[in-house]
Amino acid sequence: MKQNYLPRYTIGSDAFKAIGNVCGSYGKKLALLYGEKAYAASREKLLPALKDFEIVHEEVYGKEASYANIERIKNNEEVKKADFIIAVGGGKCLDVSKCVGDMLDKPVFTVASIASTCAAVTKISIIHNDDGSFKEIYRLKSAPVHCFIDPEVIVSAPAKYFWAGMGDTMAKHVECVFSAKNDVLDFESELGRTISILCYEPIIAKGYKAYEDVKKHTVSEEVEDVIKSIIIATGSVSLSVNPDYNSALAHALYYGLTVREWMERKHLHGEIVSYGTLIQLLVDNNEKELRRVYDFNKSVGLPVCLKDLDLEISDPLDDVLDATIINPELDHIPYPIDKKMVRSAIEKLEDYK
Ligand SMILES: [Zn+2]
Repeated sequence: MKQNYLPRYTIGSDAFKAIGNVCGSYGKKLALLYGEKAYAASREKLLPALKDFEIVHEEVYGKEASYANIERIKNNEEVKKADFIIAVGGGKCLDVSKCVGDMLDKPVFTVASIASTCAAVTKISIIHNDDGSFKEIYRLKSAPVHCFIDPEVIVSAPAKYFWAGMGDTMAKHVECVFSAKNDVLDFESELGRTISILCYEPIIAKGYKAYEDVKKHTVSEEVEDVIKSIIIATGSVSLSVNPDYNSALAHALYYGLTVREWMERKHLHGEIVSYGTLIQLLVDNNEKELRRVYDFNKSVGLPVCLKDLDLEISDPLDDVLDATIINPELDHIPYPIDKKMVRSAIEKLEDYK
């Protein structure tokens, strides 16, 4: 049996007006879970859209996508009475809410408040420990029913999330194509790989303009297209492909680099990953795409050298490279990659212009 869940979504400055129609057939009682800032940014337009429903419970999800927060919300008697859940927030809030919905067998609808990950549409929750460290991936029985995206809400968030989201999204295409290179793909993986081009070309073409607009908190066609790349295209790839094709060296190097504990305090996930994309293209001798990603990164200020990640070329990076090479993201790639290959690519990138 093969099952696939492609994202359903509504996007636009009037997107929330569709909630009544889309959610109406699931019942009248809803539990509203949100991140504080996300709710503040969307409340004014969201609440009128919910006027025909009964909000039986509302709550800030917490600060971490942890089982402690999931258990607390899951055990709330009011939440148990809800017909469905609406989650308003970034990745962590959505991951908590999706998990609660899964455990209580309630449909989950998402309102994406930042364009940084595809959490609003995917069938997994990334769970952290209470201290913020990664715990595990929780696999859900189904994906969120529908995702509502109001670009005005997204552009009201700090532009850095959008910026890093572009880096993570471009990696999706580069890594998917690379890891699937030598394989004959089944329909679903081929579907995902084909869609992955939409994680890449629209950002190279429109990402600079989109980012400039987001910095001014302005919505434009470019902003909307890049939001769709970040949330919908990436989500479609994740939902469709065999997990082998989700990531490769760009993410393995991200995990390697985060061995330096300060790394994630100073730099965002997608920012670090976008450096890894350049390294992967160098290891793979893909000169044509290296040129394009390098020029794009440079134009928007995503990393193009070690200094951009507060590292020095004199640093042997042994701990980073050791962790990179053993990362499971490299279990399925077209040829083995060793430490020397990664180190040499890092050195070459330092001289690339
Ligand atoms: Zn990522």
